[in-house]
Amino acid sequence: MKVMKFGGTSVGSVESLLNLRDIVNAEQKPVIVVVSAMGGFTNQLLAMCEQAQQRDISCLDILETARRLHHDAIDGVVVESMKKQVHDTIDRFIDESLKPYYLALATNPHMPVDEIERVCDAIVAHGEILSSAIVTGMFEDGVPHLSLNYMRTVLDGHGRVLDWEETGRLVKDDFASMALGVHVAQGFISRDTASGDVTNLGRGGSDYTAAILASLLDAEALEIWTDVDGFMTADPRTHPDATVIPQMTYEQAQQMCDAGAKVIYPPTIAPVAMKRIPVWVKNTFNPSAPGTVIVD
Ligand code: ASP
Ligand code: MG
Repeated sequence: MKVMKFGGTSVGSVESLLNLRDIVNAEQKPVIVVVSAMGGFTNQLLAMCEQAQQRDISCLDILETARRLHHDAIDGVVVESMKKQVHDTIDRFIDESLKPYYLALATNPHMPVDEIERVCDAIVAHGEILSSAIVTGMFEDGVPHLSLNYMRTVLDGHGRVLDWEETGRLVKDDFASMALGVHVAQGFISRDTASGDVTNLGRGGSDYTAAILASLLDAEALEIWTDVDGFMTADPRTHPDATVIPQMTYEQAQQMCDAGAKVIYPPTIAPVAMKRIPVWVKNTFNPSAPGTVIVD
């Protein structure tokens, strides 16, 4: 079984979602598909939090633009029999969850700081909740999973970290006896073990979610589907002669991530390196390109 993670640009348009569908349909089932929020939406959700705190409710207009974007995607990619259900899901989360959260921020000038943080963490989780509803609806054999049910974080001296013990137990439970099909999970989002509050694994954390699932479920491979052909020898924007690195070790990949290569979120490498699970970095917009493979 493989874990395939698709980033924001890979789920950001009808065109890219259709590529995703072809890529996933070519795989043996079961397969686990981990998705990011539609490209740019996480930034928007956070910017709207700032606006709402300034009592600026024009953020609700931005929310309407995002609603249309999600509905357009549904019309373009979701299987006919699922369209109504997915449209309704998107509207429900926007109207019954996001809007009340933003209004609470905008109308409560005395909201304590930790409450504001809690609300914003709950808000930002909606990016992946909405995109995953769409991706699940693209497959006749799509099976939804809810990462809020099994990804757990705890506070340690350095901030929020994964609660490996609790997450391990819950993930094995949730994915036990997996039916054939396309199992779709949200990247990035989690809950605090003690309080149950919605948390996340940090910006770019969907890669890490996919690596954690791959590691805990002993996947045969982790694939990170993005919008570049793989790890490059240099930044192609400043070095036009940069080329794709076909193969690297976990140590080399970790060094490049730590040095600022944006291809993969740095915490992603360790969980898969520990189990020697090969990691492929591939381009959703150029799927036949060989990509980069990271191995022992
Ligand atoms: N949507 C989150 C972000 O933009 C997580 C991710 O895409 O990996 O940071
Ligand atoms: Mg990313």
